[in-house]
Amino acid sequence: MVCAVVGGSLGGLFLVPSNGWAYVADVLVRSYLAFVGTVMAHEAVHGLMGPTRAANLWWGRLALVPCMVPFTNFRKTHLLHHRFTNEQSRDPDHFVKPAANREWELPLRAVAMPHHWLLWLRNLENVGNYSGPFLTMCLVA
Ligand SMILES: [Zn+2]
Repeated sequence: MVCAVVGGSLGGLFLVPSNGWAYVADVLVRSYLAFVGTVMAHEAVHGLMGPTRAANLWWGRLALVPCMVPFTNFRKTHLLHHRFTNEQSRDPDHFVKPAANREWELPLRAVAMPHHWLLWLRNLENVGNYSGPFLTMCLVA
């Protein structure tokens, strides 16, 4: 399934749409494939794509190729998201939530998420004073 998603997404780069509707279809299909790849990468973060940590690492990396998001960054920020869900200063995904009456920002924030994760991870103060095995796991992954 991961190979089909990545193959379909990257294979679409070699097709030249013949008209406007074909461009729309191309964008929709490849956006959907990128979404499916992200869902599979999420499963890999939680260890469900393979029997070993290494298998999940490689399946997750491959699944995120259509999105051009590094799996290790995705894994780190996603596990921090689960640990600190909805804590504004410690949940890396809280960024996507717009302020009241600024809901129009949501799609822009969603597109900016991978960049936000990278900048967020560079500031390890966001992880707080927690220095247990979880942080160690994040840093060595
Ligand atoms: Zn999750």
